[in-house]
Amino acid sequence: MQPPREFENPLCAQVDGELWFPEKGGSSVAAKKICSQCSHITECAEWGIKHEAFGIWGGLSVRDRDRIRKKRNITIEHLDWEDWLLNAKT
Ligand code: SF4
Repeated sequence: MQPPREFENPLCAQVDGELWFPEKGGSSVAAKKICSQCSHITECAEWGIKHEAFGIWGGLSVRDRDRIRKKRNITIEHLDWEDWLLNAKT
């Protein structure tokens, strides 16, 4: 499975990336709207379901993905936010 950072011309690359990481209780509407127009939405959502604990991926929020994981009996390793940031920088 190709990670989203390798997608060709994803729409999120043209917009402020913070939209995809709303604060707790913040809106995910704008990011989801952009995702809905992205040609990578299906593969990105699948990636997010299998790998991502934070943010909007393929138009799915953390809560959306948690629901799907529960139905499919998928577990991922949930890193804490500081660990995630450290890993993202390396
Ligand atoms: S579906 Fe959304 S998060 Fe995924 S690559 Fe497209 S715009 Fe980015």
